[in-house]
Amino acid sequence: MRKIIVQKFGGTSVADTDKIKNVAKIVIREKQNGNDVVVVVSAMGHTTDYLVKMAKDFSENPSARELDMLLSTGEGVSIALLAMAIQAAGYDAVSFNAMQAGIMTENIHSKARIIDIKTEKIKQNLKEGKIVVVAGFQGVTDDGEITTLGRGGSDTSAVAIAAALNAERCDIYTDVEGVYTTDPRIVPKASRLNEVSYEEMLELAHAGANVLHPRSVETAKLFHVPMRVRSSFKLDNLGTLILGVEKMEINKPVTGVAADLSQVRIVVCDVPDKPGVAAKLFSRLAKENISVDMIIQSYARKISNTNDIAFTVDSADLLKTREALDALKRELGVDGNIQIDENIAKVSIVGAGMIDRPGVASAMFETLAQQNINIRMISTSEIKISCLVDKENARHAVQALHKVFGLESSEIAEVKGDLPNLD
Ligand code: ADP
Ligand code: ASP
Ligand code: MG
Repeated sequence: MRKIIVQKFGGTSVADTDKIKNVAKIVIREKQNGNDVVVVVSAMGHTTDYLVKMAKDFSENPSARELDMLLSTGEGVSIALLAMAIQAAGYDAVSFNAMQAGIMTENIHSKARIIDIKTEKIKQNLKEGKIVVVAGFQGVTDDGEITTLGRGGSDTSAVAIAAALNAERCDIYTDVEGVYTTDPRIVPKASRLNEVSYEEMLELAHAGANVLHPRSVETAKLFHVPMRVRSSFKLDNLGTLILGVEKMEINKPVTGVAADLSQVRIVVCDVPDKPGVAAKLFSRLAKENISVDMIIQSYARKISNTNDIAFTVDSADLLKTREALDALKRELGVDGNIQIDENIAKVSIVGAGMIDRPGVASAMFETLAQQNINIRMISTSEIKISCLVDKENARHAVQALHKVFGLESSEIAEVKGDLPNLD
């Protein structure tokens, strides 16, 4: 049987028609290797940002359904153009949107999860010798509603399709040469990792390394899909392979450093110190589909018998969180106010090598102290330590930690595209 390779190309890789021609060449080369090829593409360049901006001209909080209708159009443009480019180069290709490709999701707008992929149509077209081009980021519900998977979600579309087709591999083509020890735009001397475990990559992606959508790594791990991250522009190395931890040799305590600038800290002050309050608060947020990241409950004050609960959410969920908390305040008997701090960033170090190696956390805290950076919250997992710091300190913190944990390379990494706004 022929092998199936799924390739995914991000926005920078399809930013204009010349770049789409370059993508067509990469796709055709894989086809010439004797493989069946399914290609997943994102919207061209900054299209999605531009569409969001237009929607916000009407309302700070546009209808989630209409926003998904709007944002899904971006990928509609790039699939058709790529199919045309492949056809113009003499190969048979067909483009499918999520409805045609059978990408079924739950009925939640703006961050729906894929629940099933009905692969018959894709398989039939591969059998006919066609290169199949599928729209990333979008899905469809059982009753025909269009959904999106969350920003950066095309990675997840690609891995889910690879899992459903039992593909040999899912290659994520992007504007960097692989996964680096940190964002090479923050530290140009970041080192490219030849391989990284699913577990570490998952933590890095959740910690803000937006080279991969976290759910794509989750899906790859669950279905054992080998993933590779590599450059669309420089094909002379194979990038980074993401695979199971047991296959890897671990030598350094820290594999990577990441910063997440999209979080907001919320403190609910003077919450009654009695059983059930935290459960009520967080189940309400869960019901609204708001993911909570770090949580700290302060020591109870004896006289008032209250404490404060601080937590972080994604800034995109701030409005919804505020509404939910306002509604809950009375129900919970909360007297105090709700403080919102948008001037924060989460800085994390990740590494399977930190297990059973004492001193990694203290080295992190010491490094931040030496830089005069105040830590506002701390959270840990087995292979990750995160500190919440002021936003303006994020870049500096990442650079210092990257150096202290010995992650620098002697080479400068090359990144295509625009610089992110970190300060
Ligand atoms: P695409 O449009 O191809 O999906 P993204 O912008 O989503 O590309 O992801 C690629 C970007 O991720 C890189 O340009 C880089 O700035 C950023 N990035 C953040 N952390 C890392 C990391 N650890 N390794 C590589 N790139 C990273
Ligand atoms: N176009 C979508 C975005 O910009 C999805 C993606 O690029 O993965 O978020
Ligand atoms: Mg991306």
